[in-house]
Amino acid sequence: MGTALVVISGLGLFASIGIFVISMLRKLFFKLTKNTEKMNKARKCSIISAITFGAFLIIFIATMIIGPKLDPVGWCTSHEYNIVEQKDSTCTNSGYIIRVCSLCGDETKETIDAHHSWVEQVVEKATCTSKQKIEKKCSRCGTTEYIESGEVLAHTWEKDKVIEATCSHPKQTINKCSVCGTSETVEEGSTLPHNFGEWTTIIEPTTEKEGQQARTCTICNHSEKTNILKKSPITIMSITYNIDYVGGVEWTYDIKNNSPKTIKYITLQWSCYNAVGDPIYDEIDGQNITGMKITGPLESGQSKQYTNATKFYNHSYASSSMVTISVEFMDGDIINITDSEYTNIFKN
Ligand SMILES: [Zn+2]
Ligand SMILES: [Zn+2]
Ligand SMILES: [Zn+2]
Ligand SMILES: [Zn+2]
Repeated sequence: MGTALVVISGLGLFASIGIFVISMLRKLFFKLTKNTEKMNKARKCSIISAITFGAFLIIFIATMIIGPKLDPVGWCTSHEYNIVEQKDSTCTNSGYIIRVCSLCGDETKETIDAHHSWVEQVVEKATCTSKQKIEKKCSRCGTTEYIESGEVLAHTWEKDKVIEATCSHPKQTINKCSVCGTSETVEEGSTLPHNFGEWTTIIEPTTEKEGQQARTCTICNHSEKTNILKKSPITIMSITYNIDYVGGVEWTYDIKNNSPKTIKYITLQWSCYNAVGDPIYDEIDGQNITGMKITGPLESGQSKQYTNATKFYNHSYASSSMVTISVEFMDGDIINITDSEYTNIFKN
């Protein structure tokens, strides 16, 4: 309010001085040009502006005098505070500081929170198992607190013993801290292979299902299992041959049915070699591979002998190698017997 009055009256003062000066100049001008009517008007204007000036001047002075008396804090432009009262805080109660402006009398109060007056002291040095321990004691009330600071120290390792690698762990070096006794195990290299005993059959294989076998390490007792191949539905018990005077080879196969089912057909194909292991060819059709299709029935568990109907002509025949063994059962099942899937294909 005081500031607003000062601003308004200040502007009023300037405005009325301006109007007064302009009116005086006009009055002089119209007096020289002998324009009496306009000269009188200008004179009136100058009188009114002089009165207005006076009024604004009174308001301005009055505001400047009365304002600071009515609102001393609002009129104080730069406080100068002095401490007039002070109460220190204690460990449990807050304190305060009261300040008063020497110019306007404005008063402020600052609160000081309660706090201990800590004195710190290291009571335990850091070790490889614990951090540094610091005691905080209040110099006023004796309240004591303990805090941890920093990091634990590194262990002081010393080699304790070395355990050689076994099949259950690699080479191990055991280190022990000479200060706290903590130990650590450092491994290097790899474990040794197991020392397995013989395979033992757990599940016997059949002609339809694989079996299972297991073996155990004699040192660490670790055991492992693998599958055993299915038993071949047929076993070739023997193969014999004769060569006639024109070089025609005739084989006789003795075959046993190991399966629980009756066999309808067996298809056999084999390739032929001479005494030095090179392939040889039939002198009539030029083929290296020959074979036969056996017609059953061959009952479950039964053995029979079969001879190829068409001879293979080559005087130098010495050995053969199976290429295909295919068995068709009476129930329509067909099995191609390979040595990657079956055992007991040939009698040992
Ligand atoms: Zn002040
Ligand atoms: Zn205290
Ligand atoms: Zn240690
Ligand atoms: Zn082992």
